[in-house]
Amino acid sequence: MVRNIAAQIVIAISLALIFQSFASGQRIRRVLFPTVEQFDTSLEAQRLVNNARQFIGDDLQREFDLVCSNTGPERAALARQRAGLPPIENYTVEPTKVFDNMWYLGPTSQGAFVIRTNEGLILIDTLNSTEEARDILVPSIEKAGLDPNQIKYIVLSHGHPGQTDHTGGANYLQSTYGAQVAMGKPDWGATLPHQSPDRPLANRDIDILTGSTLTLGNTTLSFALEPGHSPGSLAMFIPVVWHGEPTMVMLLAGAIQTPDREAFDALEHIMNDIAKPRNIRGMLNTHPGIFQDTLTDMETIRNNPNGPNPLLYDQEQAQRYWSMIIECARARVTALEENAG
Ligand SMILES: [Zn+2]
Repeated sequence: MVRNIAAQIVIAISLALIFQSFASGQRIRRVLFPTVEQFDTSLEAQRLVNNARQFIGDDLQREFDLVCSNTGPERAALARQRAGLPPIENYTVEPTKVFDNMWYLGPTSQGAFVIRTNEGLILIDTLNSTEEARDILVPSIEKAGLDPNQIKYIVLSHGHPGQTDHTGGANYLQSTYGAQVAMGKPDWGATLPHQSPDRPLANRDIDILTGSTLTLGNTTLSFALEPGHSPGSLAMFIPVVWHGEPTMVMLLAGAIQTPDREAFDALEHIMNDIAKPRNIRGMLNTHPGIFQDTLTDMETIRNNPNGPNPLLYDQEQAQRYWSMIIECARARVTALEENAG
């Protein structure tokens, strides 16, 4: 059983790497992060890690441990496997109102967010397939007290050729509810030629690039491309409201994977030129557990909806967190460059 799961994970990782190579138009497999040894023995990388330590304060140790490892934050399933822990049980999470205008919907392994505006709903990601969209996502939207007929836009956080964990339900939702589907321009290009007959992609309605915005009623999302995990992984900047107070969070679809200098530069732009000046106060991903113990945090919110929101940092903490992310990513790309060739 354990060996089976391990084998599946190895296959999944290998496939992901191969898809990554197709996506970037390269035939060689891309290395996404340095090994522990490469990271630990690079003097320059360790100098940058030490730089990052100044941002920990007495409250960001957990973030530092996640962000400043050789891999950086990764999917909970991979991190647990690396740590020799059993996989998390996969079940559909109780729809969770993570902000006044935003819900998490879907299983523990991967999910979707829905944003309510005064002119309808924006859905971020669609689970794996038509079946999951129809049998898990739509009932979760209804359970949250929302009407799936009001889905006007679907934003796909990213896509890989031949892999449908974020995009698989979009075709069904688009044809059922007439929603317009948006994705990063490079990922449309990479995924459309590789769609499988049993999991057709949605029609390409909207191409997203750095600087793109999407407005529905009183809500405007803005975007930047965050290449690395896939060429068109999106950074999304989302206006949310918590207990009546407006603030901003970001969703980083590609986590913090910076396999090359171009990816690092894009991440640095996202943090320095957008996250910091716009006072972004939270970091999300549609896979729970990448940036925080999301399943526990959502349980906290469900149990105490009038309490503080564990997904939000205060402004000063957030600024340190974004600085820490830059230094740790710089350390990883530096170690990779030193070992390239
Ligand atoms: Zn992915």
